Amino acid sequence: MKHSLANAPPREPPSPNASGMALPVFYPDFLSEARRAATDDALHNALDHSVTGKDYDRREILRELPDADALRDLAGRIKRHTLDHLDYYLELLEKNVIRHGGRVHFASDHRQANAVVIAIARRAGAKLIVKSKSMVSEEMRLNDALAQAGIEPLETDLGEFILQADHDHPTHLVMPVIHRRAPDIGRVFAQRFQTPYTEDPSALAEMARTYLRRRFNEADMGVSGVNFAVARTGSIVICTNEGNGRMCTTRPRVHVAIMGLEKVIPELEDLPVFLKLLARSASGQSLTQYTSISTGPRRPGEHDGPEEFHLLIMDNGRSRLLAGDYRDVLRCIRCGACLNACPIYRKVGGRSYGSVYPGPIGALLTPLMNGLAPHQHLPRASSLCGACYEACPVKINIPEMLIHLRKDMVDARITGPAQRLVFGLWSWTLRHGWSYRLGQVAQRFFMRRLRGPDGWIARLPGPLRGWTQMRDFPAPPRHDFRHLYKQYRRAQSRPPSGRI
Ligand code: SF4
Repeated sequence: MKHSLANAPPREPPSPNASGMALPVFYPDFLSEARRAATDDALHNALDHSVTGKDYDRREILRELPDADALRDLAGRIKRHTLDHLDYYLELLEKNVIRHGGRVHFASDHRQANAVVIAIARRAGAKLIVKSKSMVSEEMRLNDALAQAGIEPLETDLGEFILQADHDHPTHLVMPVIHRRAPDIGRVFAQRFQTPYTEDPSALAEMARTYLRRRFNEADMGVSGVNFAVARTGSIVICTNEGNGRMCTTRPRVHVAIMGLEKVIPELEDLPVFLKLLARSASGQSLTQYTSISTGPRRPGEHDGPEEFHLLIMDNGRSRLLAGDYRDVLRCIRCGACLNACPIYRKVGGRSYGSVYPGPIGALLTPLMNGLAPHQHLPRASSLCGACYEACPVKINIPEMLIHLRKDMVDARITGPAQRLVFGLWSWTLRHGWSYRLGQVAQRFFMRRLRGPDGWIARLPGPLRGWTQMRDFPAPPRHDFRHLYKQYRRAQSRPPSGRI
C-alpha cells in the first residue's frame, strides 16, 4: 500500500493528544466526574428523556424486521470476514477510489492524519473548511490542528456546531450535545450571533441554518466522516439526519473523507444489511433522513460534486487491536445503542468516560488505545448486565471483553495493593468450605445488627460506605440458603402422617 504523505507539512499541530496517546483525554479522573454526574438531576432528566427513549424506540423498531437477530448475526459475520481480510479489502478500496479519480492517503496516527488534511487544505488554498460529524476527526482533534495551521474549521452538524461555539466536547456518539440544556444552548447562540436570548428550538435552528447556508457557499473544502466504505466500488457512504453531510461533500471544491481503517465493507450488496441496522439502533428510525453514496470527484457532465476527492484512512492503533485478542471491537459501527442501553452511562453521562468514545464501547476502546493504567476505572464502569451486548447491532460481546480487560489489569498488577489483598483473601475464603461458612456466619451476625426497621441497611461502615451513599443495602436474611435447603430436605424425608 502506498502512503501519500510526501507533501505533509513538517510542523506538528499541537493538540491534547500530542502526549502520544491515541485518543485525546478531556477529563482524566473518571471517579470525580462520575461522582459529580451521579448527583446532577438535570443531566439525569436529559438522559432519561432522550437516551432511555431512544433505547425503547430501538427495540420497538427492530420488531419491524422479519428476523432482526439473524440480521445482526449477518452484520457481525460480514464485519468479522472483512477484518480477517482487511489488507485485501483496503487495497481493493484504494484501487477503486483511484480508478474513479479520487486520491487515497494512509495515516498511521492522528498526527499524520492531521498533517495530510492540512497539506490538502494548503494546496487548495482553503481558508474555511466545513465539516460534517465525524468521530475520527474528534479522535484526531482536527479542529485544533486546523486552527493552529490558520485554517478555520466549521462544524455544520447542529449539535457539533453548538459544542464548537462553546468549546465543549461531544458526550454521545450520535447525540453529541445531549448533556446540554435549552437555556445553555440559548445562551451560546445569543453570544455567537449577538441576538436576543431565546430557548425556542425552531428559532435556534433557523439561526444556525441561515448562518451555515452562507458559510457553505464560502468554504473551499469540506471534510466528512465515513459510515461505510465499499471496497468493490470505491464508494463512501454517509448517513445524516440534517442534510449538512451532503452540503459538505458536494458544495466545496475539495472533499476530504476521513475514516478509521475498520470502516470498509466488501460489497455494495452488504450495505443494506448495515443501513437497516444502523439507523434503527442509533435513533429508532428505519433509515436516516439522508443516505449519501459518493464515488470519486465530479465527472465531466455532472452538476454536483467536488473537483477533488480525497479518502484519508487512519490507523491510530487499530492495527494493534486487529492483531490482538480484542479485534472484535473493530466491528463497531458507532451507532451508540450500547450507550443508550447502559445503566452506568445513564447515570454518569458521557463526560465521565473522559475521552472521545463514551459508554460501554468507550470503556473498551479508550484503555485499549491509550493503555490500561491511565484508564483503569473504565473496565470497571460496568455492571456486566449484558444490556450493551443485547443492543449491539453487530453483536460485540462487550461484557466479556470488559472481564478480560479486568483480568489483564490483574495480570499487569495495575490494581492497587489493598485491592489485591482484599480479592486475594476473598478468593482464598471461597476456595475453602469451612472458611466460607464461617465468613457467612460472621457476615450475617454483623450485618443484621446494622439493619433499620425497614429491613435495609442505610449506612455501611468503613470503605463499604460508598455503596450506601447513593442507595440502601439489603440486610442478609436470618437463615442462609443451605440452612433452608436442609430444612426442606428434612421435611421431605419425614414419613407421611395420617392414614389413607
Ligand atoms: S459497540 Fe455495538 S452498540 Fe456500541 S456503538 Fe458499537 S456497534 Fe453500536
